[in-house]
Amino acid sequence: MLNKNSEMMQRDLEVIWHPCTQMKDHETLPLIPIKSGKGVYLYDFEGNSYIDAVSSWWVNLFGHANESINTKIKAQLDTLEHVLLAGFTHEPAVELAHKLVNITPDELKKVFYVDNGSSAVEAALKMSYHFHLNLGERKPLFLSLTNSYHGETIGALSVGDVALYKETYEPLLIANMQVPVPKDQSKEAANKALIVLEKVLKERSDEIAAFILEPLIQGAGGMHMYHPAYLVGARVLTKRYNVHLIADEIMTGFGRTGKMFACEHADIFPDFMTLSKGLTGGYLPLSVVMTTDEVYNAFYCDYSEYKAFLHSHSYTGNPLACSAALATLEIFEQNDILGDNEKKSVYIKEKLEKFLDLSNVKEVRQQGMVTAVELEGYDVSERIGLRIYEYALSKGVLLRPLGHVIYFMPPYTITYEEIDKMIEVAYEGILKLEIRN
Ligand SMILES: *Cc1c(COP(=O)(O)O)cnc(C)c1O
Repeated sequence: MLNKNSEMMQRDLEVIWHPCTQMKDHETLPLIPIKSGKGVYLYDFEGNSYIDAVSSWWVNLFGHANESINTKIKAQLDTLEHVLLAGFTHEPAVELAHKLVNITPDELKKVFYVDNGSSAVEAALKMSYHFHLNLGERKPLFLSLTNSYHGETIGALSVGDVALYKETYEPLLIANMQVPVPKDQSKEAANKALIVLEKVLKERSDEIAAFILEPLIQGAGGMHMYHPAYLVGARVLTKRYNVHLIADEIMTGFGRTGKMFACEHADIFPDFMTLSKGLTGGYLPLSVVMTTDEVYNAFYCDYSEYKAFLHSHSYTGNPLACSAALATLEIFEQNDILGDNEKKSVYIKEKLEKFLDLSNVKEVRQQGMVTAVELEGYDVSERIGLRIYEYALSKGVLLRPLGHVIYFMPPYTITYEEIDKMIEVAYEGILKLEIRN
């Protein structure tokens, strides 16, 4: 007789094509059907629990089935579930936009609602291009960093640089150029990378609309981290050469890096900031593009001048999603989340010191509530990430390594005991690899 997990898995595989997955893997690799969640735990149909150490793909901030977020969404559900945002508005969208303007860098004054991360990137790229066009300049090229990730729709994929996601679709992509990301977290690496950026801007700035980057941490690119000095320099140079700076804070926003937004580490303001993932506490799809009055005003004119920004999605600014975001921001307002997280990050870093003694550990790096352990000495075909993933699941922890980078990005509500368990299981997993080789 099949247990409930297997039964659910079988019914799933009959009809669902999963994201980011070679479906044949599931002939041998079990799919984990999740029945419920509470706090940092996910529960399957057989009652097994898993610590969600990756915040369900980096979206969850305050745990699953969080009471205060649940309450707000339920209240909104009985009031207004959805209304179009063209020609209409609603209270959660208005309140949320005001809050976002208040907490992001001062110059960001306008909020454009979208409904997922990639679409926010698309909207920012279009807005930047269109801004220059409205001012009489044609700049059809975008600049981004090597090893970057900005989503997987065509435009967002174009400005990304993770070969696994991009290579196949190359002929479909829009014009994009890349400059090297600083190779590590040192200031020297940042300065070195800035020299190349300046050279490219000097030569090509009349074609480049915007430079898009993930500030401080390149997530899907293996939790690669770099020094804030790069952001400071990039802001100065993009201003000097009349190129927009787009800070893609979809992953880094809402406290992940130790400050509310990664840009604050460098005390810079971008021309555009994209936010999603943690925005709704991991509850519902929602994203925004934040921008300056300067950008907004370049589109503001009589209808007959045809300069309006044309972009929309059916679920733009959905009220339920906005209410989840408001509830999430309220948790930040009523608690010292960043202060508590700082203590937790220090604790995590200390706990990871013993990893450095393992022969297969190349580096341990951290930026706020993102900590990564990079392994070395393995071939891609060994799929060590998958082996760690399977081991950790068998021990009740959901880790999802990116290649040979194991990382911890738990919900902020994780307790010290749960941190201990998460790290111990990762350690055992790595130790097992070391022994097998
Ligand atoms: C996840 C992510 C995206 C894409 O967001 P989706 O909602 O998955 O489309 C874009 N940029 C960054 C930095 C991300 O981490």
